Amino acid sequence: MICLSCTESSLESDLLVIEKNRNFIDIVEIRADFLDAADYKNLVSLPKKTGLPCILTFRRPEDGGVNPGLGRDERAAMMSAALDGGWAYIDIEDDADADSERQLIKDAEAAGTRIIKSFHDFSGVPDNLAERMIENSKGDRYIAKAAVMPENTAGLFKIIDAHRKLRELRISSEGYSCTNGPLFTDYILVGMGACGFPSRVMAAAWGSMLTFSSAGSTKAAPGHISPAELVDVYNYHALTDETELFGIIGNPVMHSKSPALHNAAIRANGLDAVYLPFETADPEIILEHACEINLKGLSVTIPHKQKVLDFAASLDDSVKSIGACNTLVNDKGWRGYNTDWSGFLQPLESEILENRSALVIGAGGAARAVVYALVSRGMKVVIVNRSPEKAEALAADFGCRGGGFELMSEEFSAQNGRQPLLAVQTTSVGTAPNIEGNPVPDFDLSGVGIAYDIIYTPEKTAFLGAAEAAGCRIINGFPMLKAQAARQFHLFTGRPME
Ligand code: NAP
Repeated sequence: MICLSCTESSLESDLLVIEKNRNFIDIVEIRADFLDAADYKNLVSLPKKTGLPCILTFRRPEDGGVNPGLGRDERAAMMSAALDGGWAYIDIEDDADADSERQLIKDAEAAGTRIIKSFHDFSGVPDNLAERMIENSKGDRYIAKAAVMPENTAGLFKIIDAHRKLRELRISSEGYSCTNGPLFTDYILVGMGACGFPSRVMAAAWGSMLTFSSAGSTKAAPGHISPAELVDVYNYHALTDETELFGIIGNPVMHSKSPALHNAAIRANGLDAVYLPFETADPEIILEHACEINLKGLSVTIPHKQKVLDFAASLDDSVKSIGACNTLVNDKGWRGYNTDWSGFLQPLESEILENRSALVIGAGGAARAVVYALVSRGMKVVIVNRSPEKAEALAADFGCRGGGFELMSEEFSAQNGRQPLLAVQTTSVGTAPNIEGNPVPDFDLSGVGIAYDIIYTPEKTAFLGAAEAAGCRIINGFPMLKAQAARQFHLFTGRPME
């Protein structure tokens, strides 16, 4: 189920958010800690108005809630007073044991409201995650819930392991009644933050009763996405533990457009698969444990394109020449490919490049793929970079000329008509956080045939703006992104992206 966590300050506003998202949600959580006190009395009539199963939660500040200045007893009394309204669930913390909280539990059980016993850990994932949840379920009397914050990939895999243990227990207890032994049916387990994100999308597939989402003015917890994104991008309801996983590893990675591109292609091809962002500082953990989560292929981005070379069982020739891998296919061991260079060439397919000159600005990882591509198409390439020694080293690898920015005016001149056919901007200058920047503001681009910036956000960088003003044809990085993703998708699935 997809649960919409409602965090407006009035129930009227919560109902508006619910209405807007009705087509995407199965259940609603009202976060009463966000409400103005004047609305507490109206909680009793809320479930009927939504027409959906509802969870009533009054989260404590130490568990990520807001602080409206109510003590334990007042919170419990306020929740008890709302129970007549037909709440399907109330959520209380697993250490709630004041008299008033015990009374709330009794009242809820008498009203037929199920109790979610939850705990939150914003500092990591406890080693005894599954055990604590099993203890909290008290043999299925309560629905155990945990929301934990993995700080790294090891934390994400602790969540995956807890899911496995809880699923196994659920299977082994089938057919038993509560009096005969433990019966563990429903539980809720999600990882917060960027590292935990895959566990939000895979929540139901891995065993959780639901995943939480936000669509109002405030996100209820770190890592929430909207219900529409869960359905439209990630196809949440179709995912099972047999679904094949693909994804992108990088750090950071949550801004990536690759999930939208790949998931649209997965859906267009009718595949039982999903593509997830894995934000990670330790890609090796994901590569080693891939089979446990049915992970079949990965895009690789900054800063892991070199690091993953050590873990690949085989590398194609372009990876060996470029020295960077942006695609890994899990085929009895990881097979490494580079699709950046062919993706880069795609918008230049109809150009005659042989024996013409190109200026490449930058000498980082992407520049290596660009230079490899241009040299393979027979171009004479000059590389300039802020750190001249890196441009020299790259140039030496590919038999070109390289140096500092001053090399540009030595090689090219608008006045003398000695301009390159192609000027390619490959530095990170021009995107966030240096969005206004242009690495070569003084270079006169008049007479350059094509100016190509591999950055795709923003659509038109300062470099492309100057190039357009100077009369160049301009290309941004989006066609490259799409073309390299299409090649990856074909390597992953054998199917076309479009
Ligand atoms: P990288 O390996 O970190 O290289 C960064 C490059 O930018 C280096 O040449 C660096 O020069 C230069 N640079 C950084 N800050 C600078 C500054 N203030 N002034 C001048 N030069 C500066 O990064 P990368 O992997 O090559 O990626 C570069 C860009 O390409 C990123 O924005 C990335 O998103 C984009 N990209 C796009 C696609 C696509 O599909 N469209 C694919 C790959 C990459 P120094 O050597 O002097 O540090």
